[in-house]
Amino acid sequence: MRTYLDHAATTPLLDCARDAMVGTLGMTGNASSLHGAGRASRRRVEESREVIAGALGVVPSEVIFTAGGTEADNLAVKGLYWARSGQDPARRRVLAARIEHHAVLDPVHWLGEHEGAEVVWLDVDREGRVDAAQVRAELEAHPGRTALVAVMWANNEVGTVQPIAEIADACTRAGVPLHVDAVQALGSIPVDASLPDTMAISSHKLGGPLGVGALTARRGLELTPLTHGGGQERQVRSGTLDVPSIVGFAAAVDHVLGDMAARSARIQELRDDLLVRVLAVAPGSIVNGDLGGPEARLPGNAHVSFPGCESDALLMLLDAAGVEVSTGSACSAGVPEPSHVLLGMGIDPVRARSSLRFSLGHPSSQEDVDALVAALPAVLERAGRAGQIRVSSQMAAAARDGA
Ligand code: PLP
Repeated sequence: MRTYLDHAATTPLLDCARDAMVGTLGMTGNASSLHGAGRASRRRVEESREVIAGALGVVPSEVIFTAGGTEADNLAVKGLYWARSGQDPARRRVLAARIEHHAVLDPVHWLGEHEGAEVVWLDVDREGRVDAAQVRAELEAHPGRTALVAVMWANNEVGTVQPIAEIADACTRAGVPLHVDAVQALGSIPVDASLPDTMAISSHKLGGPLGVGALTARRGLELTPLTHGGGQERQVRSGTLDVPSIVGFAAAVDHVLGDMAARSARIQELRDDLLVRVLAVAPGSIVNGDLGGPEARLPGNAHVSFPGCESDALLMLLDAAGVEVSTGSACSAGVPEPSHVLLGMGIDPVRARSSLRFSLGHPSSQEDVDALVAALPAVLERAGRAGQIRVSSQMAAAARDGA
């Protein structure tokens, strides 16, 4: 029996989503075709759009289907930047939180490197929270020069929930569009899609199929397309629509938002139990992120540093013991990078590289927490020994080099 504690990476397909997809997989029509088969597929797409729009509190034409959260984020960041700077070349500033997911972080970096954007990274506090006053001050200090603001609803590594209502208010007053990545938040905490101008969501994070998501975009908002072709989605996004995935996505959204309060409360109780027991079996371990309630942190997120242990070693040893977790940070060319989120929160690189994310989701149970707590002591002991050997060999090499 394996224990899965990586629901923030992806969570199992819900039965209702699977059933809805299976009922559609045999359909042939392209949703853009004019004949009966095409119209039948189109009907499924539009019914799904209505379900998602209804659950989010927006109108159906404000939902643009994409191939996932990454595409939705890219469309918002680049599409807004090009549209706004195209209307007025003075608008070249992009304000984005330091702790954004790479799906926002990287297009913002790219705009800075290739498109002349002036990027301003918004700082976060020790808990990983953006200060709405900083956003307001930046917008007021440079009137008419900002193309967009991007701040995520809740962080994927440490689960911190951002003050989106206050940030949206500052953006509205300044007449600057706000993009919010709600990929981790939707289905876990209340999300008001009417606050941002654009909002990215992803199906597989809430129990729908992989490879489908959506961008909500306020009516009348100009977005420059990234892809060109049939213009299927509001002339902003091209490509034949994946009808079964869209139908599965809508079924998952409907189900998850329908019983969110009760499910999130149950998951939070499990998460709190996990944290108390992990801290008890791992003396010296430190919880990262905000310890407040659901308004402060995603209910399924736990993020812990284990000083003296390398996160990669912990992950592999836990995996060998049948427990699947995440380091949350990127690894390029086999070299583990400390997480930009933890560094942004002022956590030192050594502690950042000794951290793990445990994330719970809809199927999580007490047995999952019990399995982690049972496996952890032996794993910490072995990872700690490996860390000591590495440190002493590094010290020996340094002494040799110095001699
Ligand atoms: N944004 C956040 C906050 C995420 O956690 C993820 C996935 O890890 C994404 C965007 C990307 O979504 P997708 O996997 O649908 O491309």
